[in-house]
Amino acid sequence: MEMKITKLRLGGLEKENPIIISGPCSAESREQVLETATQLAEQGVKIFRAGIWKPRTKPGGFEGIGTVGLPWLKEVKQKTGMLVATEVATPTHVLESIKAGIDILWIGARTVSNPFAMQELADALKGVDIPVLVKNPVNPDLELWIGAIQRLYNAGLTNIGVIHRGFSSYDAKLYRNAPLWHIPIELRRRFPEITIIADPSHMGGKRELVAPLSQQALDLCFDGLIIESHCNPDCALSDAKQQLTPDVLGYTLKMLVVRDGQPQSTENISVLRKQIDEIDENILTMLSKRMRISREIGTYKKEHNMTVLQSGRYNQLLENRNKMAEALNISPEFVDSIMKSIHEESVRVQMEIMK
Ligand code: PEP
Ligand code: MN
Repeated sequence: MEMKITKLRLGGLEKENPIIISGPCSAESREQVLETATQLAEQGVKIFRAGIWKPRTKPGGFEGIGTVGLPWLKEVKQKTGMLVATEVATPTHVLESIKAGIDILWIGARTVSNPFAMQELADALKGVDIPVLVKNPVNPDLELWIGAIQRLYNAGLTNIGVIHRGFSSYDAKLYRNAPLWHIPIELRRRFPEITIIADPSHMGGKRELVAPLSQQALDLCFDGLIIESHCNPDCALSDAKQQLTPDVLGYTLKMLVVRDGQPQSTENISVLRKQIDEIDENILTMLSKRMRISREIGTYKKEHNMTVLQSGRYNQLLENRNKMAEALNISPEFVDSIMKSIHEESVRVQMEIMK
């Protein structure tokens, strides 16, 4: 079934540029929830988030306050007029949240990674008219992300948006979850109207990365930001390192530069795009030439009974291209990944010849 995802509707708040959602990682106590919410409302935040049920890596951590926290969110709504959002991972969570008058639901990365759980949620949400935000799965798998959206769509949900929270990786890294911006960009290419909200808190995992990641998301024309905040971040029961005080959140939002997604004058940009088109044509022509030579080498190897893979040569090539990258002022990692995929295709072409 073809999926037509339209813009998210949030009772008018979808018109805000950017849409801002903020609040603690977890609801911990009535005081913490209300204090944080009041301070956020003073900063102009109109959508409040708080996790009631928390998926934790290992048992024994703070697994969320549970259902007793739902009335606190209701109180936030009544006292501040904010919309309130929480995470659901099971049909019971859905039921309880709807009963408590939660306005927006999000589905967490771990749940989105599990098609069985997603299907159960989709079934539970059938016939419920509520905005649902689908976080990306833990691993960088765009199809799995789209599959989760599709399950909701097939269940008849029409008010769906997504949250990009970065992707887990095993290597030591700067980010808690690598942004891999090209993945949400590809999602936008396939579903041009889809509302994408960036989650710089879970991407960065550290306070100081929230502002730069938020700016990058805005520069990429994302529709909004979901940022964790807490009235006393250092004492937070979950994700303490990445939460901001409402004050700092307000300051961060003021410092962000919101760019125009639809430039008034497209003249300059169209000249530049034309140059890009020409350069791409040159790159592809050169690649085609390179593959032709590769095939010739393949024929030579076959005739002389040589193996396709000559690892000494391959290492030399990578090292040499790395130096070139540096001299040309482009990222060696980027060049490395291009060279590896060109080499992979060369090997494939030569293996064909060997058959
Ligand atoms: C959260 O938003 O607090 C959360 C658990 O996020 P994620 O599912 O992205 O890890
Ligand atoms: Mn969190």
